[in-house]
Amino acid sequence: MRYVSTRAASADASEPFSDILLEGLAPDGGLYLPVTYPRVDAQTLTRWRAVLAEQGYAALAAEVIGLYIDDIGHDDLLELCRRAYTAEKFGDPQIVPVTRIGDEPLWLGHLSNGPTAAFKDMAMQLLGEFFEYELRRRSSWLTIVGATSGDTGSSAEYAMRGRDGLSVVMLTPAGRMTPFQQAQMFGLQDPNIINVAVDGVFDTCQDLVKALNADAEFKHRWHVGAVNSINWARLVAQVVYYFACWLRVTTSADEQISFAVPTGNFGNVCAGHIARSMGLPIKRLIVATNENDVLDEFFHTGRYRVRGAVETVATSSPSMDISKASNFERFIADLFGRDGATVRRLFDQLARTGEFDISGTAQFTAVIQQYGFVSGHSSHADRLATIKRLWTTDQILIDPHTADGVHVAEQFAGDEQIVVLETALPVKFADTIKEATGELPPVPPRFAHIGEGPRRVIEMGDDLGALKKLVADTVGTLRA
Ligand SMILES: *Cc1c(COP(=O)(O)O)cnc(C)c1O
Repeated sequence: MRYVSTRAASADASEPFSDILLEGLAPDGGLYLPVTYPRVDAQTLTRWRAVLAEQGYAALAAEVIGLYIDDIGHDDLLELCRRAYTAEKFGDPQIVPVTRIGDEPLWLGHLSNGPTAAFKDMAMQLLGEFFEYELRRRSSWLTIVGATSGDTGSSAEYAMRGRDGLSVVMLTPAGRMTPFQQAQMFGLQDPNIINVAVDGVFDTCQDLVKALNADAEFKHRWHVGAVNSINWARLVAQVVYYFACWLRVTTSADEQISFAVPTGNFGNVCAGHIARSMGLPIKRLIVATNENDVLDEFFHTGRYRVRGAVETVATSSPSMDISKASNFERFIADLFGRDGATVRRLFDQLARTGEFDISGTAQFTAVIQQYGFVSGHSSHADRLATIKRLWTTDQILIDPHTADGVHVAEQFAGDEQIVVLETALPVKFADTIKEATGELPPVPPRFAHIGEGPRRVIEMGDDLGALKKLVADTVGTLRA
């Protein structure tokens, strides 16, 4: 399998998996996609049903992901998947268990049982294995520099801790993460994990990372890389659980189900779109947003209008508070038949004017009819009511992001089974749970002692010079 940019004029300049693994954006500003999506037939689905049942989630992952990788052998890939998806790390031998909500045709696909209690672990744990494997193969090393307001940063740190050839410098806005998130990150004692609390907001952190990356010489000298949500390997890892959930809910190879997905940067649901494009019988992909409804607006109107900082509101499902959906270009590329020139034109226009509009085109009609997308959004009150109702009627406790998914899924109830993807555990958002149910969520045993040890965090001002010195000193010591 070879990869091309969404903006490429042709597939001539394609690259293998291991070359795009460590990269973010393609040089032309587009995102990498496989030249085609491999098709999976009924026979393969039947075989994979046996693989999941007899050999488990990691073996299924190696089957699915193996279709996208030619330059890592199957045995090695299986070994990487086995190390990423253990019962120990995911608190359950099924890795992604699926449970039913009451007696409704509604299910929860539990993606958030990993080390940081958010679904980002599903992709990040495998990315950690891939990075270590590839860096070792190249006798190279990498310094991941990122900014986070919560889930991504902690998930990256738990995936990269203690790994050869990898260090992580993670910037967070001082005092602005939840106590649980701070305890999780700052409690890590691994020398290759460097937490920085910046005096500022998330944008301050992100601007510092951008400024650091703009210094090409520094970037080259310290092998600066990223693990952001546009990384292809993260996406392909997420395709696997659509197959796993489908296999757990259905009994025959032609049974269609739908998925409801709490959506921010369009990474999770884009993986669903890819699974569907491969031939997995998915009826509808239900995109659920919160008050930051950039995507809900698009799926209803055909107009994609990104928001500015002032228009982006802080909600009780903070991991979905996005101003633009960074993975959306991948879907647009598929929608326009991989016509790189059109994709470039639309996203150039977006960069210039903050929006593009495809309403009235045949492509927009296809979004629903051919690609199966529908969408809805929730408010804070909707999420509270949903959390409370599931708790009182079914004794099921869900987090605010998952509540958004359940709320929207219920508006689309039809004949088919719907799997709502659970993206975080309630313990991460204790205040909102208390507001909804009157009680604090239970703390899973593995998080019982979080925050009790010493905190490892370096405080810093909004100071690029200080950040550069910090990278040079800490990474310099590790590489010495
Ligand atoms: C990241 C995240 C989301 C949004 O996922 P996307 O892939 O960005 O659409 C939803 N819920 C939680 C808890 C998250 O951490």
